[in-house]
Amino acid sequence: MLSSRLPVPNALDRLPFRHYDYSKVMGNCCENVIGYMPVPVGVAGPLLMDGAQFHVPMATTEGCLVASTNRGCRTLCLSGGCSSRVLSDGMTRGPVVRLASACRAAEVKAWLETTDGFCGMKDAFDQTSRFARLEKLHVGLAGRNLYIRFQSQTGDAMGMNMLSKGTEQALQSLQQQYPDVEVLSVSGNYCTDKKPAAINWILGRGKAAVCEATIPARVVREVLKTSTAALVDLNINKNLVGSVMAGSIGGFNAHAANIVAAIYIACGQDPAQTVGSSNCITQMEASGPGGEDLYISCTMPSIELGTVGGGTNLPPQQACLQMLGVQGSSPGHPGENARQLARVVCGAVLAGELSLMAALAAGHLVKSHMTHNRSKANLSETPAQS
Ligand code: NAP
Repeated sequence: MLSSRLPVPNALDRLPFRHYDYSKVMGNCCENVIGYMPVPVGVAGPLLMDGAQFHVPMATTEGCLVASTNRGCRTLCLSGGCSSRVLSDGMTRGPVVRLASACRAAEVKAWLETTDGFCGMKDAFDQTSRFARLEKLHVGLAGRNLYIRFQSQTGDAMGMNMLSKGTEQALQSLQQQYPDVEVLSVSGNYCTDKKPAAINWILGRGKAAVCEATIPARVVREVLKTSTAALVDLNINKNLVGSVMAGSIGGFNAHAANIVAAIYIACGQDPAQTVGSSNCITQMEASGPGGEDLYISCTMPSIELGTVGGGTNLPPQQACLQMLGVQGSSPGHPGENARQLARVVCGAVLAGELSLMAALAAGHLVKSHMTHNRSKANLSETPAQS
């Protein structure tokens, strides 16, 4: 028998819907709209990075997160800041196509890997956008299936729609060359979008960025309330060995996803892309005289984000991008705003790593969460009887 759950009477009274500009939502961001979800936005910073200061907006309901990231930012400020670089920039789409046999699939793969094959795909792909330009094809084969990972810069857009559009056009061109190519799906999970995958960790996706800093021993002691030796030891045994023990792919960090998700929600990014964007390895070493200073780096190979398109078209999200000076198209240098945002994400992750690792090393984590991250309302409720 079918059972249906009726909404609690007046449940929707508490979901706001007035005073919101839906014109930017309709046909773009959401369907069957019944309101909007306010999420508290805090600010961490200033984050001193590459000689500039950034006030980082974070939308979250996790108490302690903004305060902790803020402590990391303060640590960095007192240490002369952090430095960042973008290592690569390229969004990907990986369709699956099928041939009559594995040998035939191997022939098509070999052709795609020639200059002629690549140029044929590029001619078709590049016609679909003013910004997307095909840079690489990475072709995998499984039996008679081919998985073709298209990679392209996408200006300031995160680029998933752009890549899909270009890939579809390129596949049509491939079918003109090889009419026996059967396109099973424009996405064959070889992209890989919104699912954990080693391919993003190893080959990168979106922006790959790295950020580093050296924290003087005094700042480690006075602001982080711990020591370099304790942090280095914990980093090895938790973020490296612990993640190996757990069979992690790309999770060699304490909580990169926390910072990524909060910035993504504030800045109109696709929150599901937190999955790949949070790939991060945090490394710590003793440095300086006596080995008492702390060198830390965060390397993030697959930060998927943009400053135009999707949720970045909505005014509140644009306000948060404006706080960072990266809203919209970068004049003259398409892609510069998006790459700057990726650096900010990486720098804020580094700040978050410093603070959480310090709280764990000092044994402060549970106490601060009990104080700042526990609903007082729930404490008075009688436990449910079983
Ligand atoms: P988009 O809004 O679909 O495309 C970007 C648009 O902005 C293009 O029309 C582009 O021009 C234009 N543009 C103007 N100035 C630009 C600049 N400086 N840099 C880049 N583009 C500029 O955005 P998208 O990033 O490709 O796609 C994002 C959306 O895709 C999000 O809503 C996300 O949730 C969704 N998404 C889609 C898929 C999918 O499979 N399709 C998967 C995951 C997420 P041109 O027309 O000349 O390119």
